[in-house]
Amino acid sequence: MTKPLLELSQLAASAAGVAILRGVSLTVGAGELHVLMGPNGAGKSTLAGVLAGHPGYQVTGGTARFCGDDLLALAPDERARRGLFLAFQYPVSVPGVSLTDFLIAAVGARQPAAVPSVVSRHARPPAADAVAARLQPLLADLRLAPEVASRDVNGDLSGGEKKKSELVQLGMLQPRLALLDEPDSGLDVDALRSIAAQIARHHKQGMAIVLITHYNRILAYLKPDQVHVMASGRIVRSGGADLAEEVERGGYEPLVKMKNEK
Ligand code: ADP
Ligand code: MG
Repeated sequence: MTKPLLELSQLAASAAGVAILRGVSLTVGAGELHVLMGPNGAGKSTLAGVLAGHPGYQVTGGTARFCGDDLLALAPDERARRGLFLAFQYPVSVPGVSLTDFLIAAVGARQPAAVPSVVSRHARPPAADAVAARLQPLLADLRLAPEVASRDVNGDLSGGEKKKSELVQLGMLQPRLALLDEPDSGLDVDALRSIAAQIARHHKQGMAIVLITHYNRILAYLKPDQVHVMASGRIVRSGGADLAEEVERGGYEPLVKMKNEK
């Protein structure tokens, strides 16, 4: 049997000495789409940050395996190199670095052999032209203006455009597992549709996705393998797409209460 792509067992983590994740167990197979829902403060973004290797969190227990290897033992860049990607809930701006240069560096870092160490810092690495050429169709797919390529990463972009820019990076890097933290928050209907279409396309092409969302509406475009509800740092319910409908109808409270009474 092939190993699952991601296997979390009783993962616990804290930030600034405060326990946030209290035992998260989750298995994501290659190419699967998992939806993670849950009230504000449940720990969804913390889970994504811990998996990506955010230094602000301390893992205090449990295990996380990626393709069978100990994910927690790897530096954040090594996790990315092995095919893990995080699209941030609040994408950060990188003043002074254009999206094109950022992606050239990211693609180059994923293929260390392609960038000989003797190349000067100012020389364009071999991947540069290929990255620049691939960037324009990715921008067009998400209805972003061509000049976003030469603008600073997330500089002078609206909230929705920043979310789209995260998806452009995803399209360029083609990870094995994408953690998408509320890619649909704050989007107008057209932006939602184009983001959902891209997520659906990547999933169809074999990318595994953990989609953190509050909204059922994105699930009109996507067919999740599993839906999970997280509360107080744990997954309290898992099910199919009907679980998202249950959340939409009744909110999180009945689900969380049920678990506490068990
Ligand atoms: P969600 O994404 O589910 O809304 P978060 O993971 O962002 O929840 O946050 C979970 C809880 O952890 C919240 O109470 C939040 O205030 C707290 N938290 C998150 N990051 C930090 C941090 N770096 N330092 C202190 N507390 C944090
Ligand atoms: Mg969050």
